Amino acid sequence: MRQQHYLIPTLRDIPADAEVVSHQLMLRAGLIRQLASGLYTYLPLAQRVLKKIQAIIREEMDKAGAQEILMPALHPAEIWQETGRWDVYGPELMRLYDRHERQFALGPTHEEVVTALLRDEVKSYKRLPMTVYQIQTKFRDERRPRFGVLRAREFIMKDAYSFDTSPEGLDESYRKMYEAYQSIFSRCGLNFRAVEADSGAIGGTGTHEFMVLSDVGEDTIAYCDSCQYAANIEKAEVIQRDYRQIEGTGQPMEKVNTPQAKTVNELADMLDVSPRQIIKAVALDVDGQVVVALVRGDFELNEVKVKNLFGADRVELLDEERIRAELGSEPGFIGPVGLHGAVLIADHSVKGMQDAVTGANEKDKHYIHVTVGRDFAVERYEDLRQITEGDACPRCEGTIRFAKGIEVGHVFKLGTKYSEAMGATFLDENGNQQPMIMGCYGIGVTRLLAAIIEQHHDEHGIIWPRAVAPFDIHLISVNMKDDLQRELAEQLYVKLQQAGFDVLYDDREERAGVKFKDADLIGIPLRVTVGKKAGDGIVECKLRRTGETEEIKADELIQILP
Ligand code: ATP
Ligand code: MG
Ligand code: MG
Ligand code: MG
Repeated sequence: MRQQHYLIPTLRDIPADAEVVSHQLMLRAGLIRQLASGLYTYLPLAQRVLKKIQAIIREEMDKAGAQEILMPALHPAEIWQETGRWDVYGPELMRLYDRHERQFALGPTHEEVVTALLRDEVKSYKRLPMTVYQIQTKFRDERRPRFGVLRAREFIMKDAYSFDTSPEGLDESYRKMYEAYQSIFSRCGLNFRAVEADSGAIGGTGTHEFMVLSDVGEDTIAYCDSCQYAANIEKAEVIQRDYRQIEGTGQPMEKVNTPQAKTVNELADMLDVSPRQIIKAVALDVDGQVVVALVRGDFELNEVKVKNLFGADRVELLDEERIRAELGSEPGFIGPVGLHGAVLIADHSVKGMQDAVTGANEKDKHYIHVTVGRDFAVERYEDLRQITEGDACPRCEGTIRFAKGIEVGHVFKLGTKYSEAMGATFLDENGNQQPMIMGCYGIGVTRLLAAIIEQHHDEHGIIWPRAVAPFDIHLISVNMKDDLQRELAEQLYVKLQQAGFDVLYDDREERAGVKFKDADLIGIPLRVTVGKKAGDGIVECKLRRTGETEEIKADELIQILP
């Protein structure tokens, strides 16, 4: 490719609004341009890298037996209503109407679409297992799009879905995807870790996140310094919430029916968060309105989700102090879930609701006439504590360390959640209808591009790992006005391409300094410079990663190159 007419709009200065290195370098090296918040155009260099990443993904997916399909990005609301996620997904789901006033969404993920497909097309156990995947644009109206393409509102994802007839089958499909992911991220030159994304109550090894180790990562990983244990700290150690009544203290507790009460796990499921993310939920009555407060350090309250969930008129994130301030008195009831595991719904028709109430962590039930501390004691209190650095490893004698990570992939055993909701069944050997057992597997393709840069750069620019580099060789003619130099460079440009190399040829009439700076910024693994020694047929080779240089006879170049 000749650089003169190639769109690589490099920038000298660091763009003021780019906080992280990958975002800065992607702008400076002319890889991306922003259209609006969280929306980006990928320029030729980025598109070439994306194609290489996608080729690696396709190879590994195909090798694992997955079949590529392509599903619509535009989804009718009905299929999202079938699973209930139309209401639960919240404002991250981009919704729109067609000309007939029918409601649609732009797909943030494809469980509904793919489950509908298999429901209609696969009826017998004889056709299963089956894993399908696609590489496609996803839409999520992120609350805070940031860090460039790391958290965008439109991004490319590889998403795969497996369908099995037994839990053992799912384990096997999951293992294949897990291993494919390890190959993909290794081939992309990444230093990553597969971490448990959930444990305990949710089901042990039911989900793993693939984390690229990086200080700009938004997730914290707890890992053991001596064994393989690694988990996302959001989810490390599911809390054992257990209360027992203190004998002979306070009033006798009375269990009452509170029709909308949810257990912690149910609530977490409905909000699509981990149970650990729900530290405290409070429902109270302010001016006759139901207010639900979910309190957690950085848990971003999803207003619409919570409103739908509780049928609340108003939803606000309140801490206990504000609750007291709003009410001007002690609230009639506060049910801190983190302590005793239930969410309260204000419902004055329920007897005793004006008294102290606490959740029973049982569907549709609460205790009344109880005061925490007086009537209850916490069992296994230490289990409530979040894991911290220096803790003993839960698996071995080792010590827990923390690291920051960028989530580039996520594998998940879904089980029958979607197949049951949507009636995706198969006939087993005995002629019985069974729900298909599903898994889902995502990779953030465009996020991966940025994550690679986070791990592969220096103060001068990007340093592409060879496997994903936009070009193999950056050929530079120092002075285009010098006939000898230009002619040798032109010859090499042809020969190197004939030998199978992808070559970016800097044929611009720019100063040498500008060309070298751009070359370092763009980060192609090998630079071949045709300069003053062109007359002697000598060129300079420079490795971008190490800075090593060597003068080589142009004739011998092709034999030497790997
Ligand atoms: P995050 O925790 O970063 O919000 P997620 O858990 O919501 O991600 P998944 O639903 O697991 O994301 O989607 C699969 C993959 O898609 C993620 O592992 C990530 O690599 C990528 N991804 C998710 N959201 C975005 C986004 N807004 N921009 C770019 N990539 C994304
Ligand atoms: Mg997300
Ligand atoms: Mg996540
Ligand atoms: Mg995820």
